[in-house]
Amino acid sequence: MRQSKKLGQCFLKDKNFVKKAINRAEITNNDIVLEVGLGEGALTKELAKIAKKVYVIELDERLKPFADEITAEFENVEIIWSDALKVDLKNLGFNKIVANLPYQISSPITFKFLEEDFETAVLMYQYEFAKRMAGKPDTKEYSRLSVAVQYNADVEFICKVPPSAFSPKPDVNSAIVKLTKREPKYHVKDEEFFKKVLKAVFQHRNRTIKRALIDSSHEIEVDRDNLKGILEKIENEFDFTQRVFKTPPEKIGDLSNLLYDEIANLE
Ligand code: SAM
Repeated sequence: MRQSKKLGQCFLKDKNFVKKAINRAEITNNDIVLEVGLGEGALTKELAKIAKKVYVIELDERLKPFADEITAEFENVEIIWSDALKVDLKNLGFNKIVANLPYQISSPITFKFLEEDFETAVLMYQYEFAKRMAGKPDTKEYSRLSVAVQYNADVEFICKVPPSAFSPKPDVNSAIVKLTKREPKYHVKDEEFFKKVLKAVFQHRNRTIKRALIDSSHEIEVDRDNLKGILEKIENEFDFTQRVFKTPPEKIGDLSNLLYDEIANLE
């Protein structure tokens, strides 16, 4: 079978990284595990040996021979032939996720996972994406993605994975990340609005919060002059002179709440 670049088909060959991912997910025989991307089943087989049940979502039906071999050996594996972004995950009842993700869907699949109720997810991403997920304020990796993912999960960067661990070798480095789902550490009045504020300010991560907001006022759907008026009114309630990349997530939460109330007053 010719592996598809478009589907991110770089299969994991180095067993050490398979073991590492499974160890860090602390899989036991009580766990129901979700995997996205069967490939040739390198992760699936090892998961199936330990977990109670493994659901694997795979888009490419050309991989059926590998699936048939695995389901013949392991009764606890169920393959869902579909686009993972379109599957309703709600009814599967998994508590852990382990996957070497197709990198082209990294962002939407991660946010889809974060809407679900799970304990831990051990996931493989492109290295730079993984670093941004784990990014802390005042570092070059701190981004909209860092704040959005860390809103309801702890992110632990586990290790870098070199191209030589895969076949065919990808052009980029990869990394394993562990997500532990938890309640948000700060209160956000409106999560949709918070996402818009994140998008607005991180478009200009080196600018001050004030400048970034004014330059991206369209993202929060407020007229530029109205926004300037709002910022003048609340200038004593928030440090608008701080640079975006130095502003901690909970402060961006405060900013979102302040703006949310003021914009509601405009309407
Ligand atoms: N788990 C295997 C491994 O570690 O060797 C395969 C990982 S490979 C990086 C990604 C897999 O995801 C491929 O098998 C690919 O066909 C599949 N895939 C790509 N896009 C997908 C999607 N939208 N939904 C489900 N599977 C997808």
